[in-house]
Amino acid sequence: KENVANKVVLITGAASGIGEQIAYEYARRGAKLSLVDIRKENLAAVSDKARSLGSPDVTIIGADVSKPHDCKRFVDETVNYFGRLDHLVNNAGISGRPVTVENMRDVSEYTAVMDVNFWGAVNATIYAIPHLKISKGRVIVIASVCAWFPLPLISIYNASKGAIVNFFETLRMEAGSGIGITIATPGLVKTELTLRAKCEFQDAMRRVRMGSASECGKAIVESACRGDMYVTDPSWPKALFPWKI
Ligand code: NAD
Repeated sequence: KENVANKVVLITGAASGIGEQIAYEYARRGAKLSLVDIRKENLAAVSDKARSLGSPDVTIIGADVSKPHDCKRFVDETVNYFGRLDHLVNNAGISGRPVTVENMRDVSEYTAVMDVNFWGAVNATIYAIPHLKISKGRVIVIASVCAWFPLPLISIYNASKGAIVNFFETLRMEAGSGIGITIATPGLVKTELTLRAKCEFQDAMRRVRMGSASECGKAIVESACRGDMYVTDPSWPKALFPWKI
């Protein structure tokens, strides 16, 4: 099991939800943190709490992962500040306004979902790879169980998560044992993301136990430190799609 004390962990989308809890789990293990979010104003409080939980040093960076030069900047700033990078956690994600494919008249509203969830993770990863090769580090990505079991009304979200799993499978083949890969596919977790989509997913939410962001964050960091390839939520697809299991 990897000891991450004093190692450097960069987390995107760390201002709330699962990313925030991932930050606290790494902090409890003594890791140094680089917290990235488009809402920089919300990161100061996360940074304070992470320090109080045991992180020896935390830096916060405002950035939009959908912009490639922002991804380059936050990787560079992290390495300039700490001198190394050990784990990159690609967590930032959005779901888009729920709509059926039939009612989707214009995709322009949904390209942002791909830009953040897919291209954001790809860009952060390609800029981080040279540093992760030096540290023999790990890339963690928060995909979703929707990559395997798509939910209605969020087709582009489902596709972005399927694409990310596929991309990281390719990286795993190419990178051999040089860089570790952990792909998390959580089920429904109580966060701002699911609260925003509440009405659309009421039915699904009634049928499954919604996880908490803290248990999800804990499972992800434990698995990453164990070197697991996948972190899944086995109860979720079974409850929601019993005919598929
Ligand atoms: P959340 O909305 O609470 O957190 C997402 C964070 O990402 C926010 O702090 C937000 O400001 C940040 N963010 C959004 N766009 C960004 C951008 N362009 N650049 C930088 N930061 C940006 O949502 P969450 O539920 O904690 O989601 C975290 C990840 O977990 C996402 O990738 C999501 O798809 C995934 N996920 C969530 C669930 C769930 O049920 N909540 C399930 C499976 C997977």
